[in-house]
Amino acid sequence: MAIQRAMLLLMGNFSRTTSTEALQVLTGCLPLDLEVVRSALLYFLRRGKTVSLGGHSLEPLPEGEIGNDFRIWLLNEKKKQLDQDLLLQWKSRWSCSQKGRTTYRFLPDATMGRRIVPTDFSTRSPGHGCFTSYLYRMGKVGDPSCIFRDSNLDDAHHTFFLCDRWVSERERLEQEIGRITPENIVGIMLSHKDCWDRVVAFCRVVLRGKKQELDFRLLLS
Ligand SMILES: [Zn+2]
Repeated sequence: MAIQRAMLLLMGNFSRTTSTEALQVLTGCLPLDLEVVRSALLYFLRRGKTVSLGGHSLEPLPEGEIGNDFRIWLLNEKKKQLDQDLLLQWKSRWSCSQKGRTTYRFLPDATMGRRIVPTDFSTRSPGHGCFTSYLYRMGKVGDPSCIFRDSNLDDAHHTFFLCDRWVSERERLEQEIGRITPENIVGIMLSHKDCWDRVVAFCRVVLRGKKQELDFRLLLS
């Protein structure tokens, strides 16, 4: 897992404290142990052997004369079924995990990250960077409350969905794409390229403005 974590961190502008579970979802990479099970089962399937690994198994292709086309079709069907089973296991694991719960709020389906390309929204992991709750945990500020004094906890949810400072930017976005919530925003982004671009533009404006304000206040403190 440490090897996979190191590689996943290289795939985006992620904070070093992002959990491995959240990194897997944000990059769309199957957890390494499931990837190993997949590779091993397909290896044995091609050699006509049946093994059981991690609760998964694949029946070998039938013996005797079967056409090449049928063999290829059957192999692909078995691969598809295995992939579905492994993705289901990943989804269930992600739902039950205690790690990466801020990311979970935005991406409750582990496989949704596979449809997201790196952007300000996805690579600046929710819960990090410009949020005082994170800076407080890192010992960089003495207080996790919002610098705009409207909440005693400043995180991604507060900044993007609630903070008074960004009301006009948020209202403008909601006039264009409808009401946004942590639960529906990824679905809206994936529904149309225009929605995607508008949400990304909103996130950029908010993060850039927030960073400037934070830097200024840290300079004065
Ligand atoms: Zn605020």
